[in-house]
Amino acid sequence: MYVSFTIHANLSLTMRLLNDPPSSLLLSRNQFITKTFPNHFSIATGVYEETHGVVANVMYDPDLDKTLHVDDEEFFTQNPGIVPVWTLNEEHGGHTACLMWPGCDKTFHGRNVTYWKPFHEDATFRQSIDKAVEWMTDVTKPANLVFLYVQEPDTVGHAYGPNSSYVVEELKKIDDNIGYLYKMLTIFNLLDTTDVIVLSDHGMVAVPEENIIDLDQIVDPKLYHTSGGSPVMHIWPYGDLLDLYIKFDNGAKNHKYSVYQKKNFPCGVALHQQLSYQSPRAGRRCGIRLSGLEEPNREL
Ligand SMILES: [Zn+2]
Repeated sequence: MYVSFTIHANLSLTMRLLNDPPSSLLLSRNQFITKTFPNHFSIATGVYEETHGVVANVMYDPDLDKTLHVDDEEFFTQNPGIVPVWTLNEEHGGHTACLMWPGCDKTFHGRNVTYWKPFHEDATFRQSIDKAVEWMTDVTKPANLVFLYVQEPDTVGHAYGPNSSYVVEELKKIDDNIGYLYKMLTIFNLLDTTDVIVLSDHGMVAVPEENIIDLDQIVDPKLYHTSGGSPVMHIWPYGDLLDLYIKFDNGAKNHKYSVYQKKNFPCGVALHQQLSYQSPRAGRRCGIRLSGLEEPNREL
């Protein structure tokens, strides 16, 4: 989760210190859809979501006729032409270490990464840093590429809202731990040969209770099934697409959401869809974008 370090500049002393050359502090831009797994896989592959095929945290694959969750083998491997940088590193003789990074445990091009630690909700940032440094200093197989996922402030942001004191607390801890990372790299003589990239997968805004939309009250739920969730829901009609689209479109006049057929996705999204491979998982029929619900702090 991205929480602006510029907004919370007074909390991010380490980050500000790192903002001096040769480091830089840039803003990251989410991929559409702004969800965790799609954005993490774009970071690792360098391509848009509809190209790598991870288009939601939970998604429906029409070719497999199956709802896919992150632990399913097919979740990250829909497009065989896409290879994450962790695999490319292994193919070129490097050793990749992944700590809780989604998708990094899967096999690509018949290869797995050298070091892998699965997600564990109790794992601390500091423990992950210690493990990363241990792998980077391994005598026989030193990791030269490390992916490290930290679950905060995402977890508290979703639970209590992005403006809560819990998020502020977690930001302080993250900043401290980034300082710890630099300290460890210095102690183990790794700093001069290591590039550190700190980035995030999605942003978050608070959503008032009255903005919650009950789609069942707008269109008969027997007419379609869904995948994904806020801020973008994929709609899969059982019957006529246009008929269902019109029903949702009419409902949009009185509710805070927008509905699109895939071919009419908003500017920018539509542009790169025309330029690249289009995943059939990306709402082949139509989808709903819930306006004003960009990463709400509660699931719908
Ligand atoms: Zn999140």
